[in-house]
Amino acid sequence: MKKDVILIIGANGQIGSVLTKTLQEKFGVSFVVASDLRKDPNFEGVFEVIDATDFEQIQSVVSKYGVNQIYHLAAILSAKGEQAPLATWDINMKTLFNVLEVARLNNLDKVFYPSSIAVFGDAAAMNNTPQDAFLNPATVYGISKSSGENWAQYYFLRYGLDVRSLRYPGIIGYQSLPGGGTTDYAVDIYHKAVLNEEFTCFLNADCELPMIFMEDAIRATIELMDAPKESIKIRTSYNLAGVSFSPAEVARSIQKIYPDFSIKYEADFRQDIASKWPNSIDDSKAKADWAWKPEYDLETMTRTMIEKLKQQYK
Ligand code: NAD
Repeated sequence: MKKDVILIIGANGQIGSVLTKTLQEKFGVSFVVASDLRKDPNFEGVFEVIDATDFEQIQSVVSKYGVNQIYHLAAILSAKGEQAPLATWDINMKTLFNVLEVARLNNLDKVFYPSSIAVFGDAAAMNNTPQDAFLNPATVYGISKSSGENWAQYYFLRYGLDVRSLRYPGIIGYQSLPGGGTTDYAVDIYHKAVLNEEFTCFLNADCELPMIFMEDAIRATIELMDAPKESIKIRTSYNLAGVSFSPAEVARSIQKIYPDFSIKYEADFRQDIASKWPNSIDDSKAKADWAWKPEYDLETMTRTMIEKLKQQYK
């Protein structure tokens, strides 16, 4: 049987660095090609520098290794994207089109393309936001992801390309640092707690957002990609939920372990972005179609984050 060869684009990022290790364990180190704009000197495995805005760079790596699946993670995220809207649109769309075209022209077996809760705007119900809510995103990042979802579906319908996608909530992990999103505070807060420092939050105390622990997000990705093709009924992008909480709630969960931990609030432009996003997500379609089930709640996440970060800072 033909061996799967995986290309990860944007492998140095918050998700990519963790997903790469998981895929190396699953497929074997020599069958996973990690790529990003720069090589991390500590990276172990097969690595190629790829700027995904350049079609030829992706094409030549796909040919060189006989790649049959691409995980396309490269993007400019929500908060960072607002600093340069047109450049963000260019990068997010150009990289996606290049991946879709390389996948189509080389008859690749599968593509993974992450979307985001940023596709939702103020027209969607805030609580338990449904899969098929009206999408009127207010950030350039959200606009690029909602367009990207439709392009993913277009390539499936028009060319039969097996593109699969998840609308990730904010991802919280101890393994890596986030890259400029609106939910980044929920990683930073744990670092400050373990370092015994006060945390200044850029969102309001009661700003509830959908989040997911890294382990759950990675498992969801693998389970989606492993699911039989016929069980994937949504070809734009699946709603995915882990746990929802506000800054005040996560601070309280930390104070159960560090009673002296203190938080203050200085909301900035990211509060405006967050205020149009859902509080919680209805992921019943993911549960029904490919048996998705999150494992981490706020308490288990807080305990794990603090244990792991304490080891890292030792
Ligand atoms: P990140 O910013 O940490 O990493 C993105 C990586 O892409 C970086 O290493 C960057 O160097 C690389 N990159 C940027 N431009 C590139 C280009 N032109 N060519 C090649 N590489 C390039 O992002 P992340 O948090 O790991 O997110 C990965 C994906 O998941 C993104 O598509 C993001 O939109 C999506 N997502 C993330 C979250 C989250 O909470 N982290 C939530 C929803 C969706």
